[in-house]
Parts: sequence; structure tokens; C-alpha cells
Amino acid sequence: MNRPSIDWHARAAEVRTDGRCFIAGQRRDAASGETTVKRSPVDGRLLGTVARGQAADVDAAVRSARAAFDDRRWARQPPAARKKVLLRFAELVLAAREELALLETLDMGKPIAHALTVDVPATARCIAWYAEALDKRYDEIAPTAETGLALITREPVGVVGAIVPWNYPMIMAAWKIAPALAMGNSLVLKPSEKSPFTALRLAELALQAGLPAGVFNVVPGHGAEAGEALALHMDVDAIGFTGSTRTGRRMLEYAGRSNLKRVFNELGGKSAFLVFPDCADLARAAATAAGSMYFNQGESCNAPSRVLVHEAIADQFAALLAAQAPRYAPGDPLAPGTAMGAIVDEQQLRTVLGYIQAGQEQGARLLAGGRQVRLESGGYYVEPTLFDGVHSSMRIAQEEIFGPVQAVLRFRDEAEAVRLANDTPYGLQASVWSDHLSRAHRVARALRAGTVHVNQYDEDDITVPFGGFKQSGNGRDKSMHAFDKYTELKTTWVRIDPANDGGNA
Ligand code: NAD
Repeated sequence: MNRPSIDWHARAAEVRTDGRCFIAGQRRDAASGETTVKRSPVDGRLLGTVARGQAADVDAAVRSARAAFDDRRWARQPPAARKKVLLRFAELVLAAREELALLETLDMGKPIAHALTVDVPATARCIAWYAEALDKRYDEIAPTAETGLALITREPVGVVGAIVPWNYPMIMAAWKIAPALAMGNSLVLKPSEKSPFTALRLAELALQAGLPAGVFNVVPGHGAEAGEALALHMDVDAIGFTGSTRTGRRMLEYAGRSNLKRVFNELGGKSAFLVFPDCADLARAAATAAGSMYFNQGESCNAPSRVLVHEAIADQFAALLAAQAPRYAPGDPLAPGTAMGAIVDEQQLRTVLGYIQAGQEQGARLLAGGRQVRLESGGYYVEPTLFDGVHSSMRIAQEEIFGPVQAVLRFRDEAEAVRLANDTPYGLQASVWSDHLSRAHRVARALRAGTVHVNQYDEDDITVPFGGFKQSGNGRDKSMHAFDKYTELKTTWVRIDPANDGGNA
């Protein structure tokens, strides 16, 4: 539970970070000795220095992971033993809840209340869920003739490189590391240069839980340096990537230029929220659209950044959305009641403000927000922003902004609604609001998205797959389906001789 009595400012003043690499169970500086300075987007305070991991560090981490995989110090442990270690890992994450939440907030700007109640518990739950799942998986025996026995088994893929973004640093890492470790793989994790600290702590907690040294390594660093070196490494067997579509494209190139490692991409989105006139509760629809948009400062891959409304109710619905916006006014991320925190850094702030300007220049009508605020804090804050009169060809309707900016588009009929919803390169999520059962099903089927919600948006659980169609990626995080990414499928044929060939007693 959130303890309002905690003085988070006092705690923040005492935070000591360790940004060194974590390789073979030990902290170490980058081989070059180089570091980068990390400041907080909350108020610009200095958080510490971070090792600038590069090819030599990635190589050391991959060697450590490879040695751990080859001697099977983790993979050979019985499923029940691996489960025990991972359950302990999840417990340690929960025990470190306040420390991890504070690090996450200071590192990337989200409200402390959300870090405490969403990020840490979801990370622990993900690890515990895969721990519980790993000894409940069975392999297959094929229906072959009596002369043979064909076993179809899943084996760990080997050394997994996980490259993750900054918007949910721990959760995104957990979605990769939990299924990969559960199946017996070794890992090298490359967190975003914008949010490296909790990933490094996760690796320490895993070691403390009993994961053998060398199995889980972390190399912080820049994408074009550590990230590229990991994705190009000849001894990495698979990449689990979450990030932008631009970088996902590179991941496929890196694999083609190196060892054809398996690449699983979880990429950007421009998710559509469709509201039909037969939706009975427009107020709830508007509250959901705004809440899901502005949560995490709009820095969510699945944020419903395009609201598609039937023209008959569009004015009413836009007004309902505009009335929601003030509830998400940015505040101090370290104050327990804050609904929206800081944008991750100045670069992202400039990107978001640039899109707001592009929306205005291309003729969209600003209904709420639009400005940078809280400048006196020394951090980066943008008002919850709403545009009406948006056309599908506008940049704010086509490109992922990754900030608190929502666009309202209007449609005349169901066919146009579906056409507009599918009219971007992305296909991550969508939502249909209609009290007409057949319409809701019909539209849900026609939407090209990995997840479609009907009359809700927030429902989420580790039990369901998460991923995209089209340029939102391939592969799926979460659920039992994530095991597919971190395993190879093997067929083993065993000859069974007839009974009279001398083998019988
Ligand atoms: P990004 O692509 O810039 O970076 C993601 C990771 O890739 C970081 O660790 C970064 O250092 C690394 N990287 C960057 N350039 C690289 C390169 N040339 N070679 C190798 N590695 C490189 O994305 P971001 O800004 O960190 O994150 C935001 C993006 O992530 C958004 O597009 C968002 O939609 C997406 N995202 C998707 C999901 C999903 O599940 N589909 C979830 C969260 C975020």
C-alpha cells in the first residue's frame, strides 16, 4: 500500500545510485572507463554517473552469459529449483519496493504513486508468474507409426540479448527476463540510456535470490554503441527488443548482417479508440480515453492517441474529453497525489512540443493544453493536450508522439471508422465503444491490432499476450506465448525395433 507518511523528497535527497555494469555477478566500470552523467527529469538534479558500455563490455557480458549457458549452471537445474529461485527473486523485488519505485520515478519522471502501485508490483508479478508457469509446461509426442517415437521439445535458445526502452523500465525488462530465465537461458540486458538504474538493481536482486553468477548480465549504454554491439554480436542467439519502430527495423538489419539471430520486436503504436453513437455511457468512455492517454505522461506504446468519434456525437464527446484534461495537470512526481509527472528528458520534451506545433500548423484545433509548464521545477512537463478537427493525413494522426497528446478524428459510418482506424503503419491496440453486440464484434474483427478492447481500455494481465500487427512488431510479450521467443523447437526421433529382433527377454 502507498504510505502517504513517507517524505519522498527526503528519501530522494539520500538516494545513491550505482551505474556500473553488472557482468559475471559483479559490478564493474566500462572497459574504457567512460561514464555519462544522468540527471533527473523531475527537477534536473544529478542522479549519478552511468558506465558508458560499449562493444568490449558487451563482449564481456556475452562471454559471461555464454559460459553460464554452456556449463548449464542454470539450465540444468530442475524446473522446481529454477522456480524457487525466481519466486525468491519476485519476493526481493517486492521487498525493495520503495527503493525501486523511487529510482524509477527519479530516473524517468513518472509519479511515485504509480511506480509504487503499478511498476513494482507488475514487475514482481511477472517474475512470479513465469516462475509458477515453468514447471507446468509439458512437451509433445507426435502421433507417428509404432516404429518410431518422435519427441517435440522446447529447449532454451541460449544467450538472449534484451534491449528495452525507458517508459516502463522495470516492467519492460521483466517481460523479457522472466520468460527467458524461466526457460533456462542466459541474458544480457541493455536498458535505455535514459533509465538505467532499476535494471542494474534487478540483476543484483536476482543474484541475491540464488540465480548463478553470469546468467543475468546488464550493460548500460547508448543504443548506437552498447545496443548495436549486442544486436550485432555473433554469439547472441536471440534479441528481445522493445522500442521504436525505427530501431526495430535496425534490429532486423543487425541480425541479417551478423548471425541471423532470432529477433522479436515490440514496437510503437498509434492506437485508435472508436466511439459509436450506440455507446450508452459516453462519460465513461471519455474518462477512459483520457485516463489511458495521459497515464505515464502519454509515454505508453498502447496509449489511445487517436479518438475516432461518429460525427453525430463528436462535439459532445470532444467536450467530455476536454473536461477530463485538467484532472491530469502535471505535478510534482514525488508528491503522492500527482496524476501526471515529467517527460523523460529534454529531447523528448522537444519532440512532444514539436508535434503540438505541427498539429496547430496543419490546422487541427487545440481544445486543451499545448504548453510546457512547471519550468521553475527544473524538470520537463507538458500539459495534457487535446486536438479536435484532426484529419488522418496529419502528422499528429500518423506518427507516434509518445507524449500527452490526443487527437479527435470524426467518421460518418462504420466502414469509414474501420478504414481510419487501420490507416496508420501501426497495429498495436484499439478499442471499440458500442452497446450493439454485433457491431462491437464486427468492428473488433476488422481492426488490424494485436489487442482490441470492447467498452474498456485498461484491463490488462500477465496471462494475455501483448504485441502488435504490422509495424508495431512481431512476437508477443507476456502469457505462455512468450516462451516461444526464448526456446528452440526440437524434434528427436527414436527408433523402436519390432519385438522379435532379439531385444526382448
Ligand atoms: P528507442 O527505439 O529509441 O530505444 C529503445 C532501446 O533501443 C533503448 O535501449 C535504446 O538505447 C536502444 N537503441 C536505440 N537505438 C539503437 C540502435 N541504433 N541500435 C541498438 N539499440 C538501439 O525507443 P525508446 O524511445 O526508448 O522507447 C519508446 C518506444 O518504445 C516507443 O516507440 C514505444 O511505442 C515503444 N514501446 C513499445 C512497447 C511494446 O510492447 N510494443 C512497449 C513500450 C514501448
